Formats: sequence, C-alpha cells, structure tokens
Amino acid sequence: MRVTFLGTGTSHGVPMIACGCAVCRSADPRNRRLRPSILVEREGFVLLVDTTPDLREQCLRANVQRLDAVLLTHEHNDHLIGLDELRRFCVLQDGRLPLYGRGEVLQCVERIFPYAVRRPPPYKGLPEFDLHEVVGPLVIGPLRLTPHLLPHGAAEVLGLVFSDERGPRFAYYTDCSAVPPVARESLRGIPLLILDALRHRPHPSHLTIEQALEVARDTRPERVLFTHICHELDHAATNAKLPEGVRLAHDGLIVEV
Ligand SMILES: [Zn+2]
Ligand SMILES: [Zn+2]
Ligand SMILES: [Zn+2]
Repeated sequence: MRVTFLGTGTSHGVPMIACGCAVCRSADPRNRRLRPSILVEREGFVLLVDTTPDLREQCLRANVQRLDAVLLTHEHNDHLIGLDELRRFCVLQDGRLPLYGRGEVLQCVERIFPYAVRRPPPYKGLPEFDLHEVVGPLVIGPLRLTPHLLPHGAAEVLGLVFSDERGPRFAYYTDCSAVPPVARESLRGIPLLILDALRHRPHPSHLTIEQALEVARDTRPERVLFTHICHELDHAATNAKLPEGVRLAHDGLIVEV
C-alpha cells in the first residue's frame, strides 16, 4: 500500500495569504503546505481522500493519471470544495466516480454540486458521482477500511484505518480534537499513524502537537506523521524536537506501508 501526501497544511494553507512570518517566508519547500489530502494506492487501484481547494495543483504535482474512488472525511471546505476538479477524471475515464462519505457529507455534496449527482448529467464534461454512504467497515477495491467517528470541535470527522490481509497498515486521523478509546484501539502497534497536529497553542477543533504526542505515547504506532499543520510550525525546527519515530509530514512525501 502506498500513501502520497498531496497536502499537509491547515485550512489556510502555508504560506497564508498576506502573512509575513518566518515560516510563510521560508525558502524550505517543506514549509509550503497545500490543504490536507492523501492518495492511497494498492495493486493499481487509486483512492483519493478529500478534495481540497488545491486539488488541481495537487494532481499535477503528484502526476495523478487516474482515480478509482474518492472518499470525503468531512464537509469542511478545505476537504470538499475542490470536488468539481474531478471532472477531468470523469472525462478521461468516461464514467462516474464512486464517492464515499457520511450521509451528512453526501447531502452537502448534493447541495453544493447538484449537477454532479444528476442522472443523466445536464451536459457532457461535468463531474459525475455515484454516492456511497459510509455506515461501517467497508471495502473499496482492494482496500479494507474501518471508519471511526472522531470529534472535530462541534463537528465529526471520519478517522480511517486501512488494512490488508496482514491486518491494519495505517490510520488517517485528520481534523480531530480528540481520539476516543475505540479509535485508539485500532492504533496499537499499527505500522503508520497519520494524525492531526495543528500547532502548539490550543485550538477548539484540532489536536495540538502535545495532544497528538499523548495519543502516540499511548498507542505506540511504529511510525507517526503529523498533518494539518499551520504556519506556526517550522518543519526542520519542529522535527528536531519531536521524539524518535514521530515527524511532521510534508507535501509530496510518499510512504510504503
Ligand atoms: Zn481541515
Ligand atoms: Zn505565516
Ligand atoms: Zn475540518
């Protein structure tokens, strides 16, 4: 299974518009973070997790040639609003893309992009989706997923645990303000945990670095990579202070699990 980080930034992206801070002005490419999204590949099957406002740039940068399915973790704009860009893949592949998400999220898609779920489509060249509600563990192509509901301030987000025949391989817990006990159980000894870690200062709907480290200490994954990172964290300086096995992810990073 291969995971590609298409974006590791928080909702504003890094650099943030009209910010002159040291990280936003940094020459280190790892301090340039598009909005959070990953690509998961196995046996030629390609799943996109979240459709950010940077989706077009992300697909060009990672040279994405096809998509087999799309999953939305939640309905916030930094994870959803790039959905229309997928029309290129619908045209290329001459078909509808399966789109997975919770019922509330799919209702948002129908409200914001009604033309993308209409049958038949109003005209050619639009994005076209078949909606699949996530209600429990599911199989998407060769990928086995166990979803966990995670609190995200007053909202909720799907935390995803990806497995193969060997068992759980990695978890993607973005946009969470806590990791409840059931969601923690899946993480014990997992080869890779990708976890929300916004910054050091507290935030009502995201984990801080310290809170994310507590989850890592408790569940002991083999490797932990933080994502949804804001401009208050310099890549190199933050990594230098993190314990072994725990690092900030960066855009373009590819991990085989
Ligand atoms: Zn977000
Ligand atoms: Zn800044
Ligand atoms: Zn969010």
